[in-house]
Parts: sequence; structure tokens; C-alpha cells
Amino acid sequence: MHEDNDGWPSDDGVALTPHQDPGDQDVEMTLRPRKLSEFVGQARVREQLELVLHGALKRGEQPDHVLFSGPPGLGKTSLSMIIATELGASIRVTSGPALERPGDLAAMLSNLAEGDVLFIDEIHRIARPAEEMLYLAMEDYRVDIVVGKGPGATSIPLELAPFTLVGATTRSGALTGPLRDRFGFTAHMEFYTAVELEKVVRRSAGILAVDLRDDGAVEIAGRSRGTPRIANRLLRRVRDFAEVRADGVVTREIARAALEVYDVDEIGLDRLDRAVLGALIRSFRGGPVGISTLAVAVGEEPSTVEEVCEPFLVRAGMLARTPRGRVATVAAWQHLGMTPPQHALGESQADLFGE
Ligand code: ADP
Repeated sequence: MHEDNDGWPSDDGVALTPHQDPGDQDVEMTLRPRKLSEFVGQARVREQLELVLHGALKRGEQPDHVLFSGPPGLGKTSLSMIIATELGASIRVTSGPALERPGDLAAMLSNLAEGDVLFIDEIHRIARPAEEMLYLAMEDYRVDIVVGKGPGATSIPLELAPFTLVGATTRSGALTGPLRDRFGFTAHMEFYTAVELEKVVRRSAGILAVDLRDDGAVEIAGRSRGTPRIANRLLRRVRDFAEVRADGVVTREIARAALEVYDVDEIGLDRLDRAVLGALIRSFRGGPVGISTLAVAVGEEPSTVEEVCEPFLVRAGMLARTPRGRVATVAAWQHLGMTPPQHALGESQADLFGE
């Protein structure tokens, strides 16, 4: 394990962040599921979404606005594209940070054709004036464009074509109430099970023509942090290894050897995850410690630790959020090969976790 705390594991290992990196873009387009039937897992969300879309189609109405929340790499963008496909509509893609001025949003909205899908990624980062413009657009398919400044300013109403907004966010808690209330359907994306991830990598191996054996698929799925984007990325790294150091066939042994080279541990923790746990345990004796202090200790933004590392560490049972701060669980101490101190065991642990 590496001890340096310099943020993303990109300098000497496979970038395991569930965020997209530029090298992913082309291949992600190839691997993206195009229809609801190709979309693996998230059975509840799929079923609910199917009802929302087909109900609207049957009535000949524009479907409600849809909000997807959940950690990066779980299929929010893919689902939004699938919505457009299922509706036989075009999709326009933008993101919260790109909509800094209301004019940017007005231009986007006024260019929509009837029935189009507008996808806004990271919608929680939209600037306030643009967000306020969105309220009216979502509710009445209308925007008011303000022309001029000061007392002479006039507001010109502009009718929009009916459209469906699909928003995606890694932080649904950061969305304002009025914005959240305007979505008719909200879905939270869950981490994928190992079996679902096996399906994802098998499907991707088929598309990329990789000779992936069953035990190889199991090994990759188990180290993918519950995240399809990571599963696909690991598959590509393992393929490189298999082609360069072996005969191209991805077996369990090959996958293990490859992922060791890329510094991905057996439960899929990457360097940043381990840096967070390492700091929590070594510098703060297992916590509790506040998220900002922890982020400083690993040289990262608090939002990265909170939105990218924490959800998976909590799910893996390594970290707990308590009213007094973040706490390393006994499993975390053991995972780093250390003996948990008395205070992390027994009753005091129950105190720490008591809400
Ligand atoms: P998000 O928008 O949540 O960050 P994406 O929709 O961009 O995630 O998904 C990242 C990649 O992961 C996609 O390109 C696709 O290859 C893969 N992927 C995500 N969800 C699924 C799924 N349910 N089935 C198959 N592949 C998926």
C-alpha cells in the first residue's frame, strides 16, 4: 500500500475514481447501455421509470421531470439517454456549472424542440438566477427574459416547447426544496451487487471482444466498488495486462495479477479510500473526526471525500457517520492490518454509533 496522500491515484495506478476521466469518454459511449432492457440492475428504478415513461406516452403527454441522485458512475447519464431513446426524442446535454448565467439557460431552453429531453448533470451546482428561471420553465414551459438594467429593465415572456428535464446529482441534499419539488419522479441509484457487476463486465467484454472467463468476471466485479464505470475501467486495464503479459485470456489469476499491479485491493478500495481510512486510524485514532479535518489530512476537497469515498466506505462497513464525526469501524482497522483499540470495540462502539 502507498502511504503518500497526494489525492487521485493517477500517477502510478489505475485511476479508480468513479468520476469520468478524459480517456473514458469514447469507450464509455461504446459501452453505454442504449435501451432499458440493456441496463443492468437498479430493478426498482427501471420498473418505476418504465411506468412513468410509458404512462405518459400512452396518454400522449410530456413525461414528468426526472431527478436521479447517487454517487458517480452508477448510470445516471446512461439512464437519461435511455429516457430520450424510449421516448423517441432528442437529448440536449449540459451541466449545472455550465449554467452560470440565466442567459446560458435561456438559450438552451429556447432551442429545445417539442418533446426533447434536457439533461442537466450536477444540477445541484446550478447558479441561483438560472435555477430560478428553471422553476417557471419546468412548471409552465415559459421563461421571462429580462432585457436592460435598472428601472428601465423589462421582462419579456418567452414560450417554450414542452420538454422533459432530467437532472442528475451526487448530492441530492444540496438541492433546494423548490427545485426538488418540481421533479415529478425522483430516483436514488444504489451501488450494484457483485452479480450485477459481473453482468456489466460480461456485456462490456462482449462489446470489446475480450476473452473473459467466468472466474475473471467474478474477480473484476468484486473489486469494482459497486460501480459499473469502475468495473468497465478495470476490465480495460486487465485486458491490457492479459494482452501484454499473457495470451489475452482474462482468467481469475490474470485479473488478480493485473489488479495488484494497478494497486486495487481485494475489496476494491483505491488509494484515496485507503488514505482516508489510514488518516482516520493513524492520525485520529479511529475518530470521531469532522469531514473537513479528514479531507485536509489526505489533501483532498471535503466534497470529494464526502461524495466519492464516503458512500462506498460506509456501504463496505469501513466507516460510520456519527453525530460527532466520522469513525473507523473495527473492519477498517482489520482491513489495514491493525488491531482495533479497546475504544473501537464493545460498548463504546455502540455509543459512538448511537444517533
Ligand atoms: P453517472 O452519470 O451516474 O456518473 P454513467 O451513466 O456515465 O454514470 O455510467 C458510466 C458508465 O458505466 C457508462 O458508460 C456505462 O458503460 C456503465 N454503466 C453504468 N450503469 C450501467 C448499467 N446499469 N448497465 C451497464 N452499464 C452501465
